[in-house]
Amino acid sequence: MKTPDLLLLGIVLFVLLEFGAGTIINYLNERSKNQPLSPEGAAIFDSAEYEKSKAYGTAKYRFGLLTEAMSTGVILVAILLGAFAWLDAQLRNRLSSNLLITVIFIAILIIVSSIANLPANYYSTFVIEEKFGFNKSTKRLFFQDAGKQLMISLAIGLPLLYAIAWIYQELKSEFWIIAWLLLATFSLFMFVFGTRIFLPMFNKLKPLPDGALRTAVEEYCQKQGFPLSRLYEMDASKRSTKLNAFFSGMGRVKIIGLYDTLIEKLTIEETVAVLAHEVGHYKRKHVYTMFAFSNIQSLLIFSLMGWLLGNPNLSKALGSDVASFHLSMLAFFLLFAPVSTILGLINNALSRRNEYQADQFSIDTYSDARTHMQSALTKLSQESLDNLNPHPLYVAVHYSHPPILDRLANLRNKDN
Ligand SMILES: [Zn+2]
Repeated sequence: MKTPDLLLLGIVLFVLLEFGAGTIINYLNERSKNQPLSPEGAAIFDSAEYEKSKAYGTAKYRFGLLTEAMSTGVILVAILLGAFAWLDAQLRNRLSSNLLITVIFIAILIIVSSIANLPANYYSTFVIEEKFGFNKSTKRLFFQDAGKQLMISLAIGLPLLYAIAWIYQELKSEFWIIAWLLLATFSLFMFVFGTRIFLPMFNKLKPLPDGALRTAVEEYCQKQGFPLSRLYEMDASKRSTKLNAFFSGMGRVKIIGLYDTLIEKLTIEETVAVLAHEVGHYKRKHVYTMFAFSNIQSLLIFSLMGWLLGNPNLSKALGSDVASFHLSMLAFFLLFAPVSTILGLINNALSRRNEYQADQFSIDTYSDARTHMQSALTKLSQESLDNLNPHPLYVAVHYSHPPILDRLANLRNKDN
């Protein structure tokens, strides 16, 4: 067998393997979910709510199975029929600049995939979420969001891609270190300013209104040296009834956002306990560890790309005799899938550890946070019909936060 055929075989195997493994893990999770209600679980759901949470999980599971099967089928057909090489040849017939061909090729992939994802997102929002009473979004808002997301990914992705492809064209095998430095600089910018720039395009952020909550929050923030001017209420209720809060940014450009749904459904003490958890993410410098890990990941990716991208067999594997940056990169990322799964596992494990640390910070710095955090998390789970019994493999692959019962058990533990 020739090298391009071997690479093509590898690509097809990895696509099938990813689908197969993903389907098995989803199935195990579906089976694990349908256990009888445990005594710990009974503190969260009564039996009717528990049945509803299981039905919600099953609806998402079945729909996920369908969309995964369809997208895997489309990708396999595109690879085996040489659709990527065909698109490349069409652009090559019309354009002479390699850089321009790369940018337009990727732009077409981004546009086609975001349009192809629209029906599934629509069904998930207006049928599944709607049926279980979570959806607040209107069709107008849904399409506005999709349009904005597409524009943002094109506006950010294409100039960055152009720069990286240009560096590759000029430097070839040594390109990876310069391209990585460029991406690291850009990701620093995004870690610091990303949320501040892009979130307001989707949501309104406003300071907490005067009142008992603001007074309680003010007191806590003062004690922790967290500027109140960096704390916002966000109008999440225009899309979903689910509750949440987040910390984002670095140094002076940091923000904590509390969903208006959270403020509405939690008591003042519970809200401050959640706020203390978010301040914990800031004080324990979790953004810095995530930033460092994401740059180690991209360093690994770029060093492998520096080593492999010059090999014309990558483009040949996708059916093109003309080696190009974009086809080689596409083949590279399809072959890279197993490594990227492993990196995802590490990323999630790191994130779940950070969640426990932030919970601990809340306990250590806010009086009775142990109790308030437990009741806050219980409400969060009730309001999103959480899966009480996710399968450990599913948790490892998909959960950035620990499962609710583990988190509650950790909060009850008197030793921490
Ligand atoms: Zn957290």
